[in-house]
Amino acid sequence: MQAQTTVPVRKGQELLLNEMYVSIQGESSLAGLPTIFVRLYACNLRCAWCDSMYAVEGGEFTRSSVEDVVDRIRELSAAAEEGEGIRYVCWTGGEPLLQAESIAAAVRRLPEDFVHSFETDGEVDLHTFDRLAPAERASGRVRYVMDVKCPGSGMKAEKAYANLGLLQPHDEVKFVLRDREDYEFARRVLSAYGTKAQTVLFSPVAAAHKVSMGLDPDRLAAWILEDRLPVRLQVQLHKVLWPGKSRGI
Ligand code: SF4
Repeated sequence: MQAQTTVPVRKGQELLLNEMYVSIQGESSLAGLPTIFVRLYACNLRCAWCDSMYAVEGGEFTRSSVEDVVDRIRELSAAAEEGEGIRYVCWTGGEPLLQAESIAAAVRRLPEDFVHSFETDGEVDLHTFDRLAPAERASGRVRYVMDVKCPGSGMKAEKAYANLGLLQPHDEVKFVLRDREDYEFARRVLSAYGTKAQTVLFSPVAAAHKVSMGLDPDRLAAWILEDRLPVRLQVQLHKVLWPGKSRGI
């Protein structure tokens, strides 16, 4: 598992852009909020249940300058009436933090009332972005929603354990669970490693990629209730709103 893109990119100047769109945020504590999504290309992992492999391999990207991406975010955020508009930006992928320098350059060019969330896989050292944008991180303008990869993903959590100690209260930790083994793994991680992140998400795997059957959300709910776990059950809202649609949601 290498935390590098296989495609060379001019750091701080361009982004490997897969798609950009406006939708309803379907995950995290920001679920339900209108959000601008910036999906970047390439990933350091290959999860069995990945639902965005088109942003992981296959070469489906354009090289976009930081300025062009910022301009597009401004366009997508604009509302007809003054005082309205979208202020949430979700950087996702793929693994967005492989392009940390360029995202930091984009964040700096956008208004201070924008809130940026990063859907990161846990296997990229969070120090890198923390050092690039310390003020934005301290203020909560940039929030991580960080996965800890469970065994059912086919990946191995390695850097995630150290990264848990770097999270701030406004950050979130996410476990995507395929079965009871993953659930027990997540419980062990939470009891063994400290984190300041105040939101812990348990999300059942949905059928995707190499996984034909997901985990029933009601089973996961029963386990959480039985164990009185202080975690948030997360069902992907965008898949409820737009069943069968795989892109642009
Ligand atoms: S880390 Fe995310 S984008 Fe990368 S393979 Fe896993 S699920 Fe897909």
